[in-house]
Amino acid sequence: MNRNQVREIPTSTKIPPERPNVVEPGYRRWGRAQWDRIIDSYKASGKPQEPAVCPQCGAVYHQGRWQWAPAPAGAARELCRACHRINDKYPAGSLTLTGPFVAAHQDEMIRIARNQEQTEKRDHPLNRIMSIERPAPDRLEISTTDIHLPRRIGEVVKRAYHGELDMHFDEHGYFVRVNWHREK
Ligand SMILES: [Zn+2]
Repeated sequence: MNRNQVREIPTSTKIPPERPNVVEPGYRRWGRAQWDRIIDSYKASGKPQEPAVCPQCGAVYHQGRWQWAPAPAGAARELCRACHRINDKYPAGSLTLTGPFVAAHQDEMIRIARNQEQTEKRDHPLNRIMSIERPAPDRLEISTTDIHLPRRIGEVVKRAYHGELDMHFDEHGYFVRVNWHREK
């Protein structure tokens, strides 16, 4: 993918009517471009002022997108959506990894998740891991501030370790739930 083509979508973008509510095994036909058109309106009443800087994470809103850059002089202070979600403990996505294989490979799974987050966050400051929890030895729960990371991490895990990956998208609630499972 040419990452230069990836950009923050303005909040005024129309949501295409043909999107399915539930995206299951056939979801691969859905490319990044389609996903990027889904609007996260969380705590956003229109676009931020420009330029703006998030006082919590330092991301800068400039030229229509959030990015990592020095804050321009006179930038307005406005909390970004990712920090809003982190403060409210209100994730936009979750990835749950389950099964005996997870119990034996937790550290690798977490390393993959963190690596994917670092790569994603470079170009998309609002896409972050909120928490990683281990409620049981054979279960890892990762929550994110965005809908892209759970799928991205899940697909890397599947490429590396096979297993079963499925995904559910709640369009109305702007929430994606990705599950990955492997027995032995
Ligand atoms: Zn922020």
